[in-house]
Amino acid sequence: MATNWITAKVIENRKLTDRHYALIFEAELLPFQAGQFARLQIEAIGDEGKLEKFANPYSFINSPDEKYGEVYFNTVPDGKVSNGLAALKAGDTVEIAQPCVGFFVLSQIPKDVKNLWMFSTGTGIGPYLSMLKTADAWERFEKIILVHAVPYANELCYAELIQQFAIEHPDKFQFIPVVSREEHEGALKGRIPALIEDGDLEKKANLKINKEDSHVMLCGNSGMLKDSKAILKEQREMDRHLNHKPGHVSAEQYF
Ligand SMILES: Cc1cc2nc3c(=O)[nH]c(=O)nc-3n(C[C@H](O)[C@H](O)[C@H](O)COP(=O)(O)OP(=O)(O)OC[C@H]3O[C@@H](n4cnc5c(N)ncnc54)[C@H](O)[C@@H]3O)c2cc1C
Repeated sequence: MATNWITAKVIENRKLTDRHYALIFEAELLPFQAGQFARLQIEAIGDEGKLEKFANPYSFINSPDEKYGEVYFNTVPDGKVSNGLAALKAGDTVEIAQPCVGFFVLSQIPKDVKNLWMFSTGTGIGPYLSMLKTADAWERFEKIILVHAVPYANELCYAELIQQFAIEHPDKFQFIPVVSREEHEGALKGRIPALIEDGDLEKKANLKINKEDSHVMLCGNSGMLKDSKAILKEQREMDRHLNHKPGHVSAEQYF
């Protein structure tokens, strides 16, 4: 399908931490599946000192039927698009490529899965928040365990929304925060791959990660994805899930 750029109007650009933002916008998005992403395009001064267009992919936090679109992002040093997005104010516009794309969606998860583990680092929690806003997530699985790993506790953004999921689905949903660089009450300390390897995540969830009834979704930085996949393969014989070869691990790499 050909890419079509549409113009979105910024409703609010909420600063969540010194480097995290929730960009809320109004746009005529084509129908999409929770978990999909689209490229956002801004104008910035390029290397040759001229105004140029720069685009990068961002996942949507909003569910497909919400009125406003929402993207959760962090700025990276010298990053053109992330800093361009951070500078947007209410009333500004941003270009969005349509349709949304991507296979990191619940319809790709094998039908017989009972327990869904959603592992994320940083802004990689975004696609899961969109999925958890849909009825499909709550109808299909017996247990959903959302794991959010961040360096500092103040980066555990979207706590209120996550708390809402826990209130609405107390027997089905568990949230496990992981903080690596400081102690935080109620959170595990360390990195996701090590916490899978030594069983701490399973102990906290009181649930096993196994190939018989679990599916693991991984979203975020390449280090977490690579190391988690290796441990799940070595320790649990859990293979990458492909369309033509069903497995137990699905992944979306942000960088
Ligand atoms: C499918 C997909 C979905 C994505 N969804 C999101 C999203 O919802 N929210 C979001 O914040 N980002 C998301 N990203 C990352 C995003 O597309 C950009 O790479 C990021 O915002 C940096 O863009 P930039 O133009 O500012 O910097 P660039 O010049 O493109 O990158 C500068 C450097 O920063 C590194 N980098 C990229 N992202 C990060 C990051 N988050 N933290 C630290 N370093 C990083 C890159 O590896 C590169 O070395 C997604 C990426 C992919 C592939």
